Formats: sequence, structure tokens, C-alpha cells
Amino acid sequence: MYFNFDSTYLSLPEKFYERIHFQGVSKPEWVVKNEELRKSLNIDGDFDETLLQILSGNQWNSTPFSQAYAGHQFGHFTMLGDGRATILGEHLDAQGNRWDIQLKGSGPTPYSRRGDGRATLRSMLKEYLFSEVLHDLGIPSSRSLAVVKTGEKVYREEIHEGAILTRVMKSHIRIGTFEYARYFGTQDDVETLLNYSVNRLYPELKNSTNLALAFLEKVMKVQIDLIVNWMRVGFIHGVMNTDNISISGETFDFGPCAFMGVYDPSTVYSSIDQNARYSFENQPKILKWNLARLAETLLSLIHPEEKVAIELAIQIINEFDSLYMESWYKMMFSKLGITEEKEGDSHLVDEFLEYLYQFKLDYTNSFAKLTYPEVFDEKENDFPKEMNSWLGKWKIRIENELNSNEIMRRNNPIMILRNQSLEEILKNAEEGNFSKFHNLLNQLESKKRISSIDNSFLRANPEFDSQYKTFCGT
Ligand code: AMP
Ligand code: MG
Ligand code: MG
Repeated sequence: MYFNFDSTYLSLPEKFYERIHFQGVSKPEWVVKNEELRKSLNIDGDFDETLLQILSGNQWNSTPFSQAYAGHQFGHFTMLGDGRATILGEHLDAQGNRWDIQLKGSGPTPYSRRGDGRATLRSMLKEYLFSEVLHDLGIPSSRSLAVVKTGEKVYREEIHEGAILTRVMKSHIRIGTFEYARYFGTQDDVETLLNYSVNRLYPELKNSTNLALAFLEKVMKVQIDLIVNWMRVGFIHGVMNTDNISISGETFDFGPCAFMGVYDPSTVYSSIDQNARYSFENQPKILKWNLARLAETLLSLIHPEEKVAIELAIQIINEFDSLYMESWYKMMFSKLGITEEKEGDSHLVDEFLEYLYQFKLDYTNSFAKLTYPEVFDEKENDFPKEMNSWLGKWKIRIENELNSNEIMRRNNPIMILRNQSLEEILKNAEEGNFSKFHNLLNQLESKKRISSIDNSFLRANPEFDSQYKTFCGT
């Protein structure tokens, strides 16, 4: 009932997980229900009382487990694991697709260390919104099935209401899971995890002559796709530790994330990212660094001779820069309505970004103005006069492109989740008023009807953004 669980992760050696008996929560209450996602995953029943108890960890008929993993956090290697998350099981939808159904904030696990295993309502609502916004923007992301209040208090710097988010993801295997297998397990464990990951996520690789290399290359490709998408919409993940980088190429963990307003590649919002390690422009560099950490875990499977293995791994990692740049420019061309590169196009992109930077223009709205002239009135539609010659060049360039506006509409969001809107929505929700929260989600669903969009979501607020700070646990 409800879920169609078939948890293959439990077939891995015991060291990869811990079985969990939930403590339960005192007063579970629905806060948000994702009806569209429930239906698309073929999860039976409505959001009824029994499902509420299941998604609060009060009742279960599966074998819940928390995953072991390690990771490099801001460059430092450490043991981690699901300290506040537990997977109820792997749910199979009607098409046979497999989905981890995870409760986040459901209480302590053997990996909690000094943490309480709990989550605040505010942070779970933030994750709900961001995951759904990214999904709506066509970006692979974990999804959110529901948020429930627990009735418990959560103590951070202040006292917060506790909540549990139901997170849905193709798989929660991370680079950090491979690091755990390699540095806290044996070579056999790495091989077991590799075979498991390939079977589950990339069965097409099974007959590769060098499975570990093929896998590394695949993860590099899906992660490049992902980060290029983040760069497309101005998304700053904020905490690209190796434990937050999925093998499946899905965005997840939305603690300190935010969208960039004014175009400035050095933008950082996270209060704990003092050295700007995870700034907007550093995201591809950090991905490459993270992929090198994955490569290190696979060396003995790449080749029995370490020297040869390192050379082979380096060859793959060395492809990163050109693959990334090619993919990034291709994405940027589509933002400008260009389907096939001609000489001078990359210069056109570079120049446009240079102008945005120089005149401190909003990243999303600048592309949106080129794309949706019907939404912005004439005054708003003005770029600085210094940009006239660029605009002239661009218009000539796309004159003979077929479907250029259609391509731009697919790649340039009319709407992102603005920092100021987010804060208003969360503040209201904490006070029990969810109208803004639902208004935003409704805007996503009606996005195709551009004309009906609520203009307050389009407005940039550079002063607000320039002071804006995000925090991890709250
Ligand atoms: P994150 O920054 O969300 O990627 O989390 C990093 C690590 O801290 C993971 O191992 C989490 O499970 C753990 N963690 C975060 N918050 C808590 C908490 N409240 N209780 C226990 N563990 C936590
Ligand atoms: Mg175990
Ligand atoms: Mg994490």
C-alpha cells in the first residue's frame, strides 16, 4: 500500500547503511502536499492519515535505513553519513523507475554525531521550493513530496518548529559514498558499489572494457550537464562538498543555495563560505576538483598498476575543461537564440556578459528582456545606451535563425526564486500563512501563461541581494 518498495541498497554489505527504528514525533500535521508528484510516481491513496503517519516516521512497514558516506567538506576529508535522513525504501513507479523515498529531519541516526537529527520547518520549506523551482526550470533535481510539521521544537540559535521533508531522488549515491567505500572499506567494497551504481543508474555501461573509467566519464558528463544548467539560470548551490554531489547528476541539498541577482561571477551568499570556494564562477572548477576525488577512489579498478591507473584517470579529468567550455557556450548560445555556432558567436556571449557585469545588470532579467518583450514595459526594457551596438549586432545575428525566440524561451527563465521573495514566503509560512508559498508554486504551474505571471516575482532587488546571507541548518 502507498509505496511499492523494493530496496536493493539493503543487498550491499552492511557497512553501507544502518537500519533505523524511528523515534516518532508527537503531533504530525500536513504542511505541504505535492499532489502532482504523488500521482506521477503512482503512489497510491491520497495524502490521508496513514500516509501522514508514514511520512512522519510514526508508522512503517518497510526496512528504513540511513546511508553511510564520507566526504570532503570545504576541502577537508571526514566521515559523515545520513545524520538526519532516513530512506524509507526504493519505490518503483508504474514504468519501473526506481525512486529513493527519504525522510529528512526524522530524528537521530547512528551517523548523527552531535546533531539532533531534526530539521526546521523553515529549512524544509526552502528545500521544497528550490527543488520544485529547479525541476520546473528543466534542471535535474531531487523532488519534494511533502512537508509535515512534527509538533516538536528544534533548537538552533533560536527555537524553531520542527518538520520532516519527504525527498524523492533517483538515488542518493554520492561521490562521498565512493570515498567512504575506498577509505573506510576495502577495494572489494569500491567494486561492489561501482557495480551497484552502474546496475542501478547506468546499465548501458555494463559491457564497457574498462568499467571504472567509463563510469568516471559518465559521472563527469552528467555533472557537467547539471552545472551548466545551474550556470544557465544563475543558481548557486553554495555547498558543493563531495557528499553533496550525486552520482546520478541530480541537484540536492539546498541548505545555503540562492539565485544570483546582479551578474557578478564572484557572487557568494553562504555565510559559512568565507573563502568564496563555492561562488557562482567557481562551480565548474569545484566540480572538476570533486571529480578528481571520485577518480582517486576508483584507481585500483581502473588498472592494477597505480602509475597506469593515474595516467588513465588524468586523461579523463583533463577532458573536463574542453567538455565544460563547449557545453557552457552551447548553452549560452541558446540563451541568445543561436542554434549553431558561427565565427564571432562566442565573442557575442562574452561581450554581453561583460556589459552585464560592467553595468551591474540583473542576470535573469537581462536575458528575459531579450526573450519576453511582452512582459517588460518599454522603460524597463531599456539597456544602457552603451549596449546599443551590441544589441544591433545580436539582432542581425539571429535574423535568419529559425525558432530563435522559441529556443530562448526554453532556456531563459522568466522567473526565478528571488531572495527577497523567498524570505517573505518563509517568514509568512513560519507565522502560519502559506498564501505566498502556494502563490509561488502556482506561478510555476502557470508559467506557460506568461501574461498571468505575478510581477512581484520578476522584480530584482539589488540592494536586498547585496546584503543577503544564507545559512545552513535553519
Ligand atoms: P549537509 O551540510 O546538509 O550536507 O550535511 C552535512 C552532514 O551533517 C551530513 O552528514 C548530515 O547528515 C549532517 N547533519 C546536518 N544537520 C544535522 C542534524 N541536525 N543532525 C544530525 N546530523 C546533521
Ligand atoms: Mg550497517
Ligand atoms: Mg548533505
